[in-house]
Amino acid sequence: MFNSFTRQRIAILPDGRRILDSALGCCVARAARGIYAVFQLCEADEHRMFHSFIDDERWLQTVAAGRRPDASVQDKAKAQLAWHRARLVLRRPPAGAVVSHVSAAVLHGLPIISAVPELLEYSGPISRRTAHIRMHRPPREAAEVSSVLGRPVTSPWATVRDLAADAGLAAAITAADHLLRGRSIITPDHSPAVVEVYSQPVSERLRAAHAQASRCRSSAAAKRYVKVLRLARGLSESPAESLAIAVLDVLGLTGAYRQQVRLLNREGQEIARVDFLIGRIVVEVDGWSKYPAEDRAAALHAFRAEKRREDAIRALGYTVVRLEWADLIDPARTAAKLRAAGVRV
Ligand SMILES: [Zn+2]
Repeated sequence: MFNSFTRQRIAILPDGRRILDSALGCCVARAARGIYAVFQLCEADEHRMFHSFIDDERWLQTVAAGRRPDASVQDKAKAQLAWHRARLVLRRPPAGAVVSHVSAAVLHGLPIISAVPELLEYSGPISRRTAHIRMHRPPREAAEVSSVLGRPVTSPWATVRDLAADAGLAAAITAADHLLRGRSIITPDHSPAVVEVYSQPVSERLRAAHAQASRCRSSAAAKRYVKVLRLARGLSESPAESLAIAVLDVLGLTGAYRQQVRLLNREGQEIARVDFLIGRIVVEVDGWSKYPAEDRAAALHAFRAEKRREDAIRALGYTVVRLEWADLIDPARTAAKLRAAGVRV
């Protein structure tokens, strides 16, 4: 399972040890003592024998035929995510510890906007840090723990609360938006806990969310968590849009925008549904993968459709600002773009 195999199985093959060593850091990584896993396909002939251990493609970096493993940032991020998840499942958690923080977000299939951390994150009775794990102090009440792939993990809303306390506003808003939106980007069979959250109506989800506020470990953490719940309304359609909410907050624009607004023409027909609207200024957020890079015809088609849509919005008298990842990770850059369009920031 999980594309894993033991060292023993390889060591009995001629030259097995040497080949395994050469595959480490290439397509194979060490998961636990004596246990290894294939996390991506590579083109080295010698390493093909490891392909036979691949039993679940979801754990692999998705390598479409002919596309090199390091094709893009996105692929790397996917590979890191798959690898982080595999390690969480293959390793035995430290005694009394529960998978938490970013690692919990990974297991719940919540979107991760920062780089996937090398360290596996847990919460447990003692705070400690080794080469492989980081253990946060507060142990969990039983009610806050769910199980994903056989591992104890903080419940989705407890995870958001921990992210708000330790990983920052943007990470927490992204996770909260995703949970409130109630739409899954992972296949439901991944985790019973996640399915449960998604099948709840919004009011139930909000109640579950607010129940966590009383369990924050400090008043500062509680304040930040409540802020996350105020800002995340489940309207964002991508992690980039969730990140934009955090940036707009930094720029003092909370309350000044509306999200997912339908723009109508004089005849009352919908021209577009825009990501953010600040007065007469439309702010559109472009994530990573709007245009599929490997399919030029599709990319061109998407680009033209986008252009027509934008022209129609401008024809209604709106100004359009487009924000990309590069803008969103740099609030000063976002501010400059908004200012140029006439937003007071
Ligand atoms: Zn390899």
